[in-house]
Amino acid sequence: MEIKKYVYLFKEGKASMKNLLGGKGANLAEMTTLGIPVPQGFIVTTEACNKYYEDGRKISPEIINQIHEKLAQLEEITGKKFGDLNKPLLVSVRSGARVSMPGMMDTILNLGLNDAAVEAMASLTNNPRFAYDSYRRFIQMFSDVVMGIEKRLFEAKIDEMKEEKGVHFDTELTADDLKELVVRFKALYKKEKGEDFPQDPKDQLIESITAVFRSWDNPRAIVYRRLNDIPGDWGTAVNVQEMVFGNKGETSGTGVAFSRDPSTGENAIYGEYLMNAQGEDVVAGIRTPQPIAKLQEQNPEIYKQFEDIVNTLEKHYRDMQDMEFTIEEGTLYFLQTRNGKRTAQSALKIAVDLVEEGMLTKEEALLKVDPKQLDSLLHPTFDPAEMKKVEVVAKGLPASPGAACGKIAFSAEEAKERAANGETVVLVRLETSPEDIEGMIAARGILTVRGGMTSHAAVVARGMGTCCVAGCGELKVSEANKTLEVAGKTLTANDWISIDGSTGNIYAQAIKTVSPEISGYFATFMGWADETRKLKVRTNADTPRDTVQAVEFGAEGIGLCRTEHMFFAEDRIAAVREMIVAKTVEQRRKALDKLLPMQRGDFASMYEALEGRPATIRFLDPPLHEFLPQAEEDIIALAKEMDITYEELKATCEELHEFNPMMGHRGCRLAVSYPEIAEMQTRAVIEAAIEVRNNKGYDVVPEIMIPLVGEIKELKYVKDIVVETAKTVMSEKGVEIPFKVGTMIEIPRAALTADTIAKEAEFFSFGTNDLTQMTFGFSRDDAAKFLKDYYEKKIYEQDPFAKIDQTGVGELMKIAVEKGRSERADIKLGICGEHGGDPSSVEFCHALGLDYVSCSPFRVPIARLAAAQAQIKNPR
Ligand code: PEP
Ligand code: MG
Repeated sequence: MEIKKYVYLFKEGKASMKNLLGGKGANLAEMTTLGIPVPQGFIVTTEACNKYYEDGRKISPEIINQIHEKLAQLEEITGKKFGDLNKPLLVSVRSGARVSMPGMMDTILNLGLNDAAVEAMASLTNNPRFAYDSYRRFIQMFSDVVMGIEKRLFEAKIDEMKEEKGVHFDTELTADDLKELVVRFKALYKKEKGEDFPQDPKDQLIESITAVFRSWDNPRAIVYRRLNDIPGDWGTAVNVQEMVFGNKGETSGTGVAFSRDPSTGENAIYGEYLMNAQGEDVVAGIRTPQPIAKLQEQNPEIYKQFEDIVNTLEKHYRDMQDMEFTIEEGTLYFLQTRNGKRTAQSALKIAVDLVEEGMLTKEEALLKVDPKQLDSLLHPTFDPAEMKKVEVVAKGLPASPGAACGKIAFSAEEAKERAANGETVVLVRLETSPEDIEGMIAARGILTVRGGMTSHAAVVARGMGTCCVAGCGELKVSEANKTLEVAGKTLTANDWISIDGSTGNIYAQAIKTVSPEISGYFATFMGWADETRKLKVRTNADTPRDTVQAVEFGAEGIGLCRTEHMFFAEDRIAAVREMIVAKTVEQRRKALDKLLPMQRGDFASMYEALEGRPATIRFLDPPLHEFLPQAEEDIIALAKEMDITYEELKATCEELHEFNPMMGHRGCRLAVSYPEIAEMQTRAVIEAAIEVRNNKGYDVVPEIMIPLVGEIKELKYVKDIVVETAKTVMSEKGVEIPFKVGTMIEIPRAALTADTIAKEAEFFSFGTNDLTQMTFGFSRDDAAKFLKDYYEKKIYEQDPFAKIDQTGVGELMKIAVEKGRSERADIKLGICGEHGGDPSSVEFCHALGLDYVSCSPFRVPIARLAAAQAQIKNPR
């Protein structure tokens, strides 16, 4: 039997093996092949990770053997040996999934040190301080990351030592101090774990690799995967790499660099470094690093070599690279490269520039931008009108663009809770770390006191498209007391703060934000997307204002106008309630008469805003619980308006109470009971269309959509009323206009009988919100409460209300498409559930052969790009 290979030396891999070796590992392998100076190492594969889980969270002896084998080969390559007293091999251990995942395990550095190797290292380098510092860092990282002993316990020991010695900075501790610190750290480890700190480097290594595998399933990683559509069965690889040291003195250093500016996209190397420092110092933002240009002054020779490698890597990968490098006593090494995370602005500029530079085709460029990222482009900036009277109280680094305003939350937990309670918050922290991810998602903006442009907060915020200001050292933040002192003011959790991620400006006040305008690179790029895609993109809009916004974002029509939403306004809701609680046809007609002009007016404005683009108007579908009056004063007012007693109205409301309103008297069921509602709506639609045709000359062809149909006869019943009324209105006006009547497919029975339904329906629009609700039997309103248990237990990885369940709901859609077309070959097919703006769902709709997707205005650009990408990946 052939033995499966679970471990690869860097020189045995290549970039195309990303699925097996993880992104980081595959790129380390590729760089090795390209002849770039990379400290050598090996990669334990993602398959080994999956096997670890299959084997009940154990690394099998077979894999351990292979690790030991590759370790022996690495020892040969480096001429060093694990635990050796003359030439000890030290390695770093890092996780590396197919795509980089901030929620996962931190790096472990200096693995291989023990009581003997540290002595060897001290005399070898002639630098005992460096040796003991490395050892204490290793004990600290291993204990925290691998063994789960709290970091702060170690930090307290450092503080204790500094106090004893009367010094302020870690750097002021001597070799002997650090040696003593190692003793204390080991004692702490023993106290916490009940055993000695492991001295055998091979044990340290296997424990660390196990910890990486384990971290694939930690709660943060699961949340991150759900947000980023990363399947749980990808697994993570582990990279074991020889250490090089950037903290060996003033000829050593370490840094991170991007081949282009990740914020603006400008074609110039962008980066930060620190001399005499280890990688974590730069990333953690504990010391503030220098801009890369300084390196050119400091050491032009190294800079030249560095610049050449950066250019080679960018050309090779044909994309902006994010790299880590270390200089060890004057020798340059690259520790990692990957396609860099970037702001949406810079993603577009880079994509367009790379096409202009001849590096990419338009299609390749279109695939380089994550559609979801466009979201941040459409996000707010501060209202210029307000900016005249505001005062900048501090300035930090503009880490991720956009503007945010909210009350201050001093911890991720707090941000999450308060946001869940409907508050808008800005997360203010000394620095962020991966466990803050949920709070960062919940916050409108992120502000940190420490850290550079490449700190955790900055990188993660850019990835999420959330506004972020980092490294604002002027702020004095006490996370314990929940206070922020700035410019002589003390702010608390009750105070507002506004931050500008594009300038770094901080304001100790609330500032209104406004929606942005789209132009330049965005227009060019989206133009390419539009040329490419086959799927049309419409919008879900219920007001003239939303319609205008959506058209600006490129919507090609309205795919869903929820007419009940047109009555949410304070002054309109009363008329809808009156209609709902009416006991007689007369009462109902009276209410409908009030609604008619409002509807007609709105339809006319929307037709105008669409300038001839199509519009699907869905007839009333008000789940009763959203519309019945509940507050005492509303009931009193309505009773008065209807000229009935309070008691009478109260009794009617009680009668109308439903246990399952989502499955109750809504959708076309309402029109079946009260046909006069469909009459009024038809009248409003047709009259508005005639008016706009006459006044503006647009060829308005109304598409009337009947919701919640499950049976052909109910569709036929309502359709007959629509057609009858339309005829009456047209003869009253003396004009004939074309119109269509179609239905939503949102009840499984409709999907299953779609051929029959298509006899009456001229179009279908998939209402995947209800279709998901009814296929799963999950209440749309209640599922969120228990779905989190499903994610935790890995029963579901994704929210089926956000991303189409292709296996179940998708199968029903497929059946409906086939059956619908079998009856009516040219039937128009679309989707208007929330899924219409979700990229993976858009891809699915493209594959199904739908004509269009429809989504909320702000997701229109996302859907346009997703549709183009779907066409490139799977041409139709
Ligand atoms: C749907 O069910 O998918 C839909 C678009 O309709 P609503 O969300 O209004 O029920
Ligand atoms: Mg619905």
